[in-house]
Amino acid sequence: MPQFLDARAVPDGSVLSPDLAIIGGGPAGISLALALANSNLKILLLESGSMHFNAQTQNLYAGNEVGIPYVPLDETRLRYLGGSTNHWGGWCRPLTEIDFERRSSVPYSGWPFGRATLEPYFPRAQKLVEAGPFVYDALADSVGGMGPLLELGLGGVYSSFFQFSQWAGNPEHLPTHFGERYAADLKRIPNLDVMLYANVTGLRLAANAATLDHLDIATLSGRRFRVQPHAAVVATGAIESARLLLASNDVMASGVGNQHDLVGRFFADHAIPRNTATLVIFRGALPTYYTRTEVLSGLHFRATLAASDTFKRSAKVLGSLTTVEQTVALDAVGTAAVTQTSSILGADASGASAYALGCGFELHPDPNRRLTLTSERDALGMPRLKLSMTISDADFTSYERTLKELGRQLLVARSGMLRLNRTTRADWLSGLSWGNHHMGTTRMHVDARQGVADANGRVHGIANLFLAGSGLFPTYGASNPTMNLVALTLRLADHLKEVMV
Ligand SMILES: Cc1cc2nc3c(=O)[nH]c(=O)nc-3n(C[C@H](O)[C@H](O)[C@H](O)COP(=O)(O)OP(=O)(O)OC[C@H]3O[C@@H](n4cnc5c(N)ncnc54)[C@H](O)[C@@H]3O)c2cc1C
Repeated sequence: MPQFLDARAVPDGSVLSPDLAIIGGGPAGISLALALANSNLKILLLESGSMHFNAQTQNLYAGNEVGIPYVPLDETRLRYLGGSTNHWGGWCRPLTEIDFERRSSVPYSGWPFGRATLEPYFPRAQKLVEAGPFVYDALADSVGGMGPLLELGLGGVYSSFFQFSQWAGNPEHLPTHFGERYAADLKRIPNLDVMLYANVTGLRLAANAATLDHLDIATLSGRRFRVQPHAAVVATGAIESARLLLASNDVMASGVGNQHDLVGRFFADHAIPRNTATLVIFRGALPTYYTRTEVLSGLHFRATLAASDTFKRSAKVLGSLTTVEQTVALDAVGTAAVTQTSSILGADASGASAYALGCGFELHPDPNRRLTLTSERDALGMPRLKLSMTISDADFTSYERTLKELGRQLLVARSGMLRLNRTTRADWLSGLSWGNHHMGTTRMHVDARQGVADANGRVHGIANLFLAGSGLFPTYGASNPTMNLVALTLRLADHLKEVMV
C-alpha cells in the first residue's frame, strides 16, 4: 500500500503542482479528500502534524486569550492528522431550520441558504462520523421500551436526542478519530497524496490579488518549499484558518479575504454552564437515556431538552440543548418547595427525584469576539493569535427564558418543577466551560461586505481559494458542529467537482 509523504524529505525550494491542495487533515480536510477520491483531480493534502501528538508541533497553536476566561488556544484543539477529533466527545446532532434563517431579533444572523440545501449531505456525513442512521427527533417514537419520555405537554421545550460517533471496531468504544480511522482509506486513493509535517505558512496571492498563486510550506526541521495548485481549500479549523488568512498579508495588507475587516471576527463556541437548575420529577426517576448514553439497535444516543424552533422564533431566544446530569439530594428548602407545589397541583410527589441540569447554548453573533494577530511569533515565524472572548448578558437571559419555559411546562403537565440556580452574571460565569466548538471566524455571506466567503465557501474576490469547516457558520445553532461541518464539506466537494473536474 502507498505510504503518506513526509515534507521533511522534500528538497528545499521545490515546487509541487497538484490540481487541488487541501490544507489540514481534520474531519473537514479528510472528508473532502474522501469525497473527491477517484475524481480527475490530482490532490495533495497538506497536514502540519503526523499520526501522533507532538509537543513542538502542538506549540504552533499557542496564543493568548483576553476577556472572559476561555480554554488556552493550544489546549482547545489538536494539531496532527485527524485534528481535534483526536480528543472530541463524538456528540452529534444536525442544525435545525431556524439556525439557517435570518432573524431580525438576532443581528448578523442567517446562512446564505436554508437547511434543505444541506439535507442531502447529512446521511453521508453521519456515516463518516460513524453515528447511527440519520434519525434524531424521531427517536422519541422508538425509546418507549426503555421508559417514557419526560412529560412536558405542549410548549417550547421538548425531548430531542444526540447521537454519538462510535469508531467502528475500536475496542475502547471511542468516537471516530478521523486520522487513524481513515488513514488506510486515504492511502488507497489513487489521485491523492497526503503529506505529513507540512505546515502551510502563507497563502500567496498573484499581484492582482484575484487568484491564489502558491502556498508556502515549512517544516519544523527547517525545510521550505512551495505548492502551486490550481485551487486550494483551507481546512485548518476555525481558529487557524483565520490566522492563516490574516497572516498572509503581503499582497493584501489586511490579510487574504479581509478587505472588509471580517476575518477572525464573530468567533463563537457553545457556552456550557454547569448546574444551571435543579429539575424535580414528581413520579420516580427519569429513564437512563436522559442521564447517560444508551444503545438502541446499535445506535448510541442520549436525550436532551431542546428549545423548539417555534419557541425560538416566538420568544426570540437562541438555541440551547439542556442535559440532565447527575441526581442531587434536595435540601430542606427544596423538599418543602416540592411538598407545597405538588400539593397545590394535586400531584403525588412521594417518590420525587431531583437532578442537576447542564446545557450547551448558542451565543449571539458578536463582531468583537474576535481573533487578531500579535507581534509574538511561533517557531516557523508565524504571528501568534490573541482571542478576545466575550459573552453578553443577553446570551444568559436568552437561555434563562428557555429554562423558565421548561419550568412552566413541568407545572402545567403536573410532572415536576424546576429551580433556577444561576441568576446574576457572576453566577453564570462561575460555572462556565466551553464546548471547544470553534465557529464563525470566516463566515459565509453572499455579500462580500458581510462575509469572508460566498455560499460555496469560496473566499470573496479570490477565484481559486476555498474554505471548509465551521468557521463558515454565520449563525451557530446549539448543535455540535462536526457532523454539520462534514455535511457542508461534502457539499463543497460536489461544487469543486462541478467547477474543476
Ligand atoms: C475536547 C473537545 C471535544 C469536542 N467534542 C465535540 C463533540 O462532542 N461533538 C462535535 O461535534 N464536536 C466536538 N468538538 C469539536 C470538533 O473536534 C471540531 O468541530 C472538528 O475537529 C473541527 O474539524 P476541522 O477539520 O474543521 O478542524 P480540526 O479538527 O481543527 O483540524 C484541522 C487540521 O489542520 C491541521 N493544520 C492546522 N494548521 C495547519 C497548517 N498551517 N498547515 C497544515 N495543516 C494545518 C491540524 O493539524 C489539523 O489536523 C470537540 C473539540 C474538542 C477540542
